[in-house]
Amino acid sequence: MARIYNFSAGPSTLPLPVLEQVQADIVDYKGAGLSLIEASHRGPHYSEVHEAAGAALRKLLGLPDNYHVMWLQGGATLQFAMIPMNLLQGGKQADYTNTGSWAKKAIADAKIFGDINVVWDGKDENFATLPAAADVDARADAVYLHLTSNETIGGVQWQEWPDVPVPIVCDMSSDFLSRKLPLEKFGLIYAGAQKNLGPAGMAVVIIRDDLLEQCPDDLPAYLAYKTHAPKDSLYNTPPVFPIWVSRLVLDYLNENGGLDWVAGLAEERSGLVYGMIEKHGGFYRCPVAAHCRSKMNVVWRLPTEELEQQFIAEAKAAGMDGLKGHRSVGGCRASIYNAMPVEGAKALADFMDEFARKHS
Ligand code: PMP
Repeated sequence: MARIYNFSAGPSTLPLPVLEQVQADIVDYKGAGLSLIEASHRGPHYSEVHEAAGAALRKLLGLPDNYHVMWLQGGATLQFAMIPMNLLQGGKQADYTNTGSWAKKAIADAKIFGDINVVWDGKDENFATLPAAADVDARADAVYLHLTSNETIGGVQWQEWPDVPVPIVCDMSSDFLSRKLPLEKFGLIYAGAQKNLGPAGMAVVIIRDDLLEQCPDDLPAYLAYKTHAPKDSLYNTPPVFPIWVSRLVLDYLNENGGLDWVAGLAEERSGLVYGMIEKHGGFYRCPVAAHCRSKMNVVWRLPTEELEQQFIAEAKAAGMDGLKGHRSVGGCRASIYNAMPVEGAKALADFMDEFARKHS
């Protein structure tokens, strides 16, 4: 078996030991005579997995008891709407930062439900930078301040968190579980699973009690946090396969050193790629301001689009796929999530070095 280095932005690479465990258990789940994805979501086999997934996530994040964990379908995209639908009914206020493609979508949905104020907008700077955390404020009567911790397409990532008088609601889809968090600042954290957590088909939503209490009861059942949180995400059939794999990923992270471990690896991997961009500064160019360069999604340009195409094609032939930038912005992008081996980043950096030497 030859596995490539997969730099895809999501779905993306998963830890090999996790895939191997799934492979071993997929047909006959631990001697049960059936697959876990054939088993009742209320039966003993799945119940154990469901409980363990929640416990492992709580342990990894150090999540206090006043936060609920929900595993929901509809991806992070549904949360763009579900958050304001649950927290802003009746035209309540919320503040948003417009930091790129994903924040923009969150803002558009929020405007359907609430009075939305954009407190910082990166549009005029082509979304290539973020404000200093200390320069971000929120209205004291806003229900929350919304941030996108890491813009997967633009490659900007908050390195520090604003001090604001309201809870932060954060889309962490593309850097969830990549570093420790000052949890007390966050009222709600959400993330699509398919980057650092597991397979596509699920979002994890973590909500603090005081925000949950503010949610209305009269929403369509699936769209109400008050449906899912008290029922531990078992109101209806949960996304059993993504939850199963996520449990294995979470166990793997907990067993190997937790968030400090992955944060160190992210530093190392991203350092290798940014280092190579700097080394060949006349050839490669990272458009993102140095203080907010993402440790998960590194974006860069080459002198021409032809060279970019050639770079991507040759990298692919060398066993490194998924390096094409998002279709909306072009260029190159390496998504180097938790499960990307450091050797993968090293292989990419070596390839970049050689390519630049040949073509500069
Ligand atoms: N937010 C961010 C930061 C993302 O990267 C993505 C997906 N790439 C989404 C939201 C949307 O997630 P989903 O596809 O799970 O709806």
